[in-house]
Amino acid sequence: MSANGPATEDLIKEVEFTHTNALMEKYIEAHSAQSKWKRIPLESRIECIKDFAALLLENKEELSTELTLEVGKPITQSISEIEGAASKCDFFILNSEDLLKRQKLNQDGATEEIIDYDPLGVIGHISAWNYPYLVGINIFVPALIAGNAVLYKPSEHCPKVGDSIARLLWQAGVPKEVFQVLHGDHKCGQAMLHLPLDGYFFTGSNAVGKKIASAVAPKLVPMILELGGKDPLYVTNDLSNVDNAAEQALDGAFYNNGQSCCSVERIYVHEDIYHEFRDKFIQKVSELSIGDPLNPCTYIGKVTRKAHMSYLEEQIQDALSKGAKLECGGKRIDEDYFEPTVLTNVTHDMKLMQEETFGPVIGIQKVISDAQAIELMNDTEYGLTSSVFCSDRLRGERILKEINSGTGYLNCADRVSSYLPWAGRKGSGLGCALSKHGLYAFCAPKGYHLR
Ligand code: NAD
Repeated sequence: MSANGPATEDLIKEVEFTHTNALMEKYIEAHSAQSKWKRIPLESRIECIKDFAALLLENKEELSTELTLEVGKPITQSISEIEGAASKCDFFILNSEDLLKRQKLNQDGATEEIIDYDPLGVIGHISAWNYPYLVGINIFVPALIAGNAVLYKPSEHCPKVGDSIARLLWQAGVPKEVFQVLHGDHKCGQAMLHLPLDGYFFTGSNAVGKKIASAVAPKLVPMILELGGKDPLYVTNDLSNVDNAAEQALDGAFYNNGQSCCSVERIYVHEDIYHEFRDKFIQKVSELSIGDPLNPCTYIGKVTRKAHMSYLEEQIQDALSKGAKLECGGKRIDEDYFEPTVLTNVTHDMKLMQEETFGPVIGIQKVISDAQAIELMNDTEYGLTSSVFCSDRLRGERILKEINSGTGYLNCADRVSSYLPWAGRKGSGLGCALSKHGLYAFCAPKGYHLR
């Protein structure tokens, strides 16, 4: 497999596919190593993650350049990803000891009732390319702390980043057999589904997530699916600072070229401020700097997968054919970049307002009330995040409560915290990463009745 980075199109590295026959060998190694790893004191496993986080920061420059070369992300956003990845470990470093300790929960007469958290065993993580550090950490950090071994398949679009993650974890003290990298495309992912793993943790598209769910279900082992989104943002008419809302909506929609699971993908604006918001938003879009991802001034880099450009064009054509108005952008530039695109007069019979776009294209729809906004925000098969801009906190929270998504943002968007659950609803996923729930996801709780 050759890794040609979209940033320069140069061959970055030849990466060898992990041969299907080697998968079982790696599993057997991991299985045997895990029985030792789980016996290492919890504090020592946490110490390894602490050292891993420190190594991320120490090697920030080299790692962020590699990330940009491999996925075409602007260099400033790659630096933020590495810094964010290091600080994302903090929740688990600070809280795991307390959360995983054996707890006496009740005394029933002569019987002590105690809960213990065993690791699952050897788990598989099949991962995505858009935030390889951030989405990887959701899985392998709590999994390793809880005492599991991990077979990690990075996306075929960022194998070199996958190797760097492994190198730093090994350097931090995680045994090589306990964290192993499997290289390959969907065939490698499919082959992992035939291994007798003790849990499957997938980050990727809804379509692949459904295939994984049906293959894993008969195994009766835990599974988490972190899938795509069609995340809505609603701007109410109760807003003291429309410019700020436009600025944040812009960042939510176009950060990482719109290639985030929690990118803002649909904007609804109350009719009272619709024109003001729309004009400010479009003005800001026209000021975005597009260009070489290695240039620190660039905000919009290259689209990572070239094949995705025709998908973006199709969504735009579908919307235009049904009456949408193209306000700016609308086409690719030089086969590498896609113009940041805004469409108005959009409706829910357009793919643009229903299907994940995963690119720098956004639709803005006018609404007449909170009730209409709520109805529209709920009207997709996804439920990852939703965002409301509103000066009245009670009103904002009331709206968010009505939206069937795992995350609600008030006056912010496109944000992840390791202290809070990350749990897509409906077509956006199954199960929960991050927070204490995302640590317990890698444990098999055991109840002891001790008399
Ligand atoms: P993808 O589904 O194409 O691939 C994800 C991984 O699955 C890759 O490693 C790929 O090799 C593997 N794979 C593909 N087909 C497979 C199969 N049949 N069996 C087993 N493995 C298979 O997704 P992608 O393009 O890498 O990532 C983008 C998607 O991920 C977007 O939909 C995005 O929203 C989503 N995502 C979600 C989150 C989240 O936290 N919810 C985070 C990041 C990305």
